[in-house]
Parts: sequence; C-alpha cells; structure tokens
Amino acid sequence: MRYKIAVLPGDGIGPEIIPQAVKVLKTVGKKYGVQFEFKEGLVGGAAIDVYGTALPEETLKLCEESQAVLLGAVGGPKWDSLPPAQRPETAALLALRKGLGLYANIRPAYLFSALVDSCPLKKEVVEGTDLLILRELTGGLYFGEKKRQRTDTGEVAWDTLIYTSEEIERILRLGFELARARRKKLTSVDKANVLITSRLWRETAERLAQEYPDVELEHMYVDNCAMQLIRNPRQFDVLVMENTFGDILSDLASVLSGSIGMLPSASIGGQTALYEPIHGSAPDIAGQNKANPLATILSAAMMLRISFKMEQAARDIENAVNKVLEQGYRTADIFREGTTLVGTEEMGELVRQAVEEG
Ligand code: NAD
Repeated sequence: MRYKIAVLPGDGIGPEIIPQAVKVLKTVGKKYGVQFEFKEGLVGGAAIDVYGTALPEETLKLCEESQAVLLGAVGGPKWDSLPPAQRPETAALLALRKGLGLYANIRPAYLFSALVDSCPLKKEVVEGTDLLILRELTGGLYFGEKKRQRTDTGEVAWDTLIYTSEEIERILRLGFELARARRKKLTSVDKANVLITSRLWRETAERLAQEYPDVELEHMYVDNCAMQLIRNPRQFDVLVMENTFGDILSDLASVLSGSIGMLPSASIGGQTALYEPIHGSAPDIAGQNKANPLATILSAAMMLRISFKMEQAARDIENAVNKVLEQGYRTADIFREGTTLVGTEEMGELVRQAVEEG
C-alpha cells in the first residue's frame, strides 16, 4: 500500500512538532509494510514570507493530490498587523478548509489516566473523561458576510451567522453516526432561546433523531454546556455544534485532557482529510524544544484510523503515548513533581520507540 501525505509544518512550534509525528508514521509504515510518501509544503506566515500569500496555489494543489494532510499550526506576531483577509489564520486555514471541502472538525478530548494530576480540575470530576466535540467548520459565524464601514458618528461592523438546512443536516448526521459508533449519546449544542439559526438547528436534529432511534439525543444551550463540561464532563459522549461554539468549547475541553498540547483533531468532508493539533503556533515557546508533540502525534493516529482505515496502527500510537506517559515522561506543559521532564524531540523519540517495540 502507498499513501501520499502532504506535510505542512507552518509557523512557530509547527516545524518542531511535525517531524515528531512524521517519524512515528515512518515507524508505523515499516511495521505494517505500508509506504507513506511525505511531501512538504509552505503554509501560513512561512508561505507569506516566500510567496506573499498564506496559501500558495502549489500548496493547495499538493493537498488536493494527497490522501491526507498533516498540519502544524499557523500565525504569529510577525504577521499580526496584516489586514484580516491576508493573515495566516484566515487566509490559510479558512481557505484550506473551504478548498478541501472540510465541513466537519472532530476533536476528541480524552484524559490519559497518567495525566489526571496535570488537569486543574478535581480528580473525581475528570477521571474517565472521554468525549468528542464535532464542530461545523465551513459555515456559521466565521463564514457569513462580514463588513465594517464608517458612519456619521463612528464606525459599524457586523458578522453574519448563517446556515442552510443542508449544512446543518450533514454535520448532525455525522454526529449521529459518530455517537452510534461510541456510547450512543449525542448532545446538540445551540442557543435556540436567542438565535433563529439555532432553532433551525434544533428542529433538524429532532427530525434526524427519528432515523437514529438507538442514539439518545439531548439539546443543551451553549452557555450551560460550557459550565457542564467543567462540572461533569463524564456525562458527555459526542457533542455537535456551530463553528464558533465549537472553536471556543473545544479549547475549554482541552483543559480536561491536561493540556492544550494533548488534543488532536481531524477535519473531514472532502476527498482529502486534514489532521492537526487543536493548539496554535505557540510563539512564546517556539524554537526552544519545549512544545508538547503529543497532540500532533495523536492527530497522526486519527489519520491512520480515518483516512487509511489502519485501526490497529492507530491504537499502537495511542498505546505508545499511554506507555510513555505511564513511564513518567512529560513535556513542560504537563510536568509535575516526581515526573521526568523531556523536550519535544525526546518525547517524539520515546513514542516512536514505544510504537516500534509495541
Ligand atoms: P496557542 O494555542 O498557540 O497557545 C496558547 C498557550 O498554550 C500558549 O501559552 C502556548 O505556549 C501553549 N501551547 C500551545 N500549544 C502547546 C504545545 N503543543 N505544547 C505546550 N504548550 C502549548 O494560542 P495563541 O497563543 O492564542 O495563538 C498563537 C498563534 O497561533 C496566533 O497567531 C494564533 O492566531 C495562532 N493560532 C493558530 C491555530 C492553528 O494554526 N490552527 C489555532 C489557534 C491559534
């Protein structure tokens, strides 16, 4: 078997964490007799510096011609003063999602038992957390019409939250399917007491629920959901929501995993899926061998599971991460007294070895 993977390290810690996931994938390839062909492309600020644009045509083409994309992170202070439409986060990420038709972002939040003490919440609250946030990715508030203009008295600006019933239905359907393959509970998150888009969302969920009698559907307002995620995260299995709600609540859910450096994600919908950690480019620690590469390595596991249907290989990686954590190795973000502090590269190598031995 031969698979083409587009590798886009991006900015900040991206070029440090991506090589760790690539070396783990190479080891998986050897172990399972699968050939992964890695091709690097520029994206984000790194691409602006060379091509003057955050998503050069050849990078998009490389992604389209690959079976999967592995992305680090984009953005940083150097490009913050650019107009919003040219900034790496908007010009690269949103264009990549749109270009590849990635309408769904899957973000599992899982707490490895070795990291219970790295979580700021009480052990009895977080232990056993295993939930999945499904975020709509190409519609909603981030993609509706935006405008800013002068008025007689100052300025006015607006963003638009807009959804078609088709967009809502396809993300909810995926939510039901994912819940069906897990613990069969779907929480549909909305703000139906205020937003008319949420009322369409809720009605669509009710209609689809008829087709999934084996899945328990509940509705929850987004503000209550933020509280419930911290108060009792074990009540959740799959949560599905609008783009902005998902962006915010998945960062909140990262606390449940011990660190934002632990959360992987997959964006799916088109022919080529994209895998990336949920965190950003972390400019504050970039270039210091301090970043936690586990979210990126776990994103590679999602790639094996979803794009290449290599379930056992995905589990090998997850088990290797578990083993290394159980052995007490920690990057700075999850370090506690009594554990062993390691850098980005060492952590990547430890996981690679554990995959090889496992
Ligand atoms: P961030 O996620 O980069 O960092 C937030 C905090 O978490 C920082 O203290 C950082 O050091 C820490 N952190 C993040 N990832 C870590 C890791 N793997 N290991 C250890 N610590 C980690 O968010 P931010 O500071 O708000 O944004 C920085 C830049 O990244 C901005 O330009 C932002 O726009 C961009 N960004 C990009 C993406 C993306 O590429 N998908 C997502 C979010 C933010």
